[in-house]
Amino acid sequence: MSDAEPSIFTRIINGEIPCYKLYEDEHVFAFLDINPFSLGHTLVVPKEQAATLDTLSDESSAAIGRVLPRISRAILAVTGAVDFNILQNNGEAAFQSVFHVHFHIIPKLEDGSGLAWPFATKQLDPEVGAQLAETISAAIE
Ligand code: AMP
Repeated sequence: MSDAEPSIFTRIINGEIPCYKLYEDEHVFAFLDINPFSLGHTLVVPKEQAATLDTLSDESSAAIGRVLPRISRAILAVTGAVDFNILQNNGEAAFQSVFHVHFHIIPKLEDGSGLAWPFATKQLDPEVGAQLAETISAAIE
């Protein structure tokens, strides 16, 4: 657990700030995003206050992984969506605005609302790819 000031999500989890709560267990809390891409847009948050995913404990990571599909299924069932995105931003340059790990579940609705495409991409250079795969795979602990 971080000794930083409580994040806005910690304050939501603690009941100090209201939210539209969907789910809670020992490690995880989920609620509706207040500025949704589409109706049903949900944030799934570990109770552990880690700023970014690379600093989250194995226990919280596993707990999130266990419930993401289950919460997604409920959102799909209720919104009627079939397609959806999981979005997870880390760091300001990667569009993170709340520095407490969270996974967005964003249903793609019939009215077209949801995450917008296209994302900016660039084809991977084969030499760069081979080199990068080697160095990153060696760095996985
Ligand atoms: P990110 O840009 O990935 O850090 O996303 C942060 C998300 O948190 C945004 O989509 C905000 O709309 C959402 N958000 C911020 N404050 C609240 C709040 N009090 N209740 C619900 N969602 C929030």
